[in-house]
Amino acid sequence: MNIYLNNRIVPASDAKVSVFDHGFLYGDGIYETMRAYNGAVFMLDAHIKRFFRSASMIELDIMRKRDSIKKAIYKTLSANSLKEAYVRLTVSRGHGAIGLDPALCKKPTFIIIAQELRQYPAVYYEKGVSLTIAKTRRNLKEAINPQIKSLNFLNNILAKIEAKKKNAYEAVMLNAKGYLTEGTICNVFFVAKEKNSEVLCTPSTDCGILDGITRNIILDLAKKNGIAIKEGKFTKKNLYNASEVFITNTTMEVMPVSKIDNKKYASGYITKLLGTAYKEKVKSYTLRFKDI
Ligand code: PLP
Repeated sequence: MNIYLNNRIVPASDAKVSVFDHGFLYGDGIYETMRAYNGAVFMLDAHIKRFFRSASMIELDIMRKRDSIKKAIYKTLSANSLKEAYVRLTVSRGHGAIGLDPALCKKPTFIIIAQELRQYPAVYYEKGVSLTIAKTRRNLKEAINPQIKSLNFLNNILAKIEAKKKNAYEAVMLNAKGYLTEGTICNVFFVAKEKNSEVLCTPSTDCGILDGITRNIILDLAKKNGIAIKEGKFTKKNLYNASEVFITNTTMEVMPVSKIDNKKYASGYITKLLGTAYKEKVKSYTLRFKDI
């Protein structure tokens, strides 16, 4: 495997970062996860835009232009002869003396990892996965805003540990006020009945979530398909009472949920419809794609 490290492609065995890197010492940095389909990085512009938003929210100067980052991503894919890939862009504050002051670091550390996409087992999509509602609360947006895709991932890891202990595939976190937020690596959607019609619900960004790129696409596809949507504040009771639940992210796309704690769900038609519409969107994107 070849890694892009600070402007150079190097074998993974030579891709080394200082023990004084503030990403390692303090989780001071940001990242993006992308997926390449048939050589095209899906929604690349949106990912780069969010990457710069995360950087600006932690006052990190990436010292690179958007186009050069895009070129570097494609260079990394080609250096690994990859077409179906997981791509991770990571930037830390860089190496510097011990201490929290970002000014101790003169240059950010910039890394791109591209590897063969590990496909999720087909049975997850056919049967659905299980979730649990974690005791760990999502970071307050006034403390570490979940809109920053930060290297500091302990909040999510603690919830993931809870999920594993309960044999659940993923954990959903509530915020400090008890409203639903998101999973450890995904956004959450559910279908609720309102006055005999069905509404696709998802926690609003106000609740303290990462506004996923997949989430935005799903909301858009729902609108285009005449499905009513509601972004708002929801409780775990709303989720338990739902008729369908699914989770989304860039690599998993639309994943049906069959169980949350003791509550079971059938895989419903809205989940299927949106899962198919998402795949079609990916297909038309990759057909239109021209290498940069
Ligand atoms: N929420 C969290 C905490 C995540 O880590 C992710 C993705 O990694 C998402 C939501 C989904 O974001 P996206 O759809 O942009 O992949």
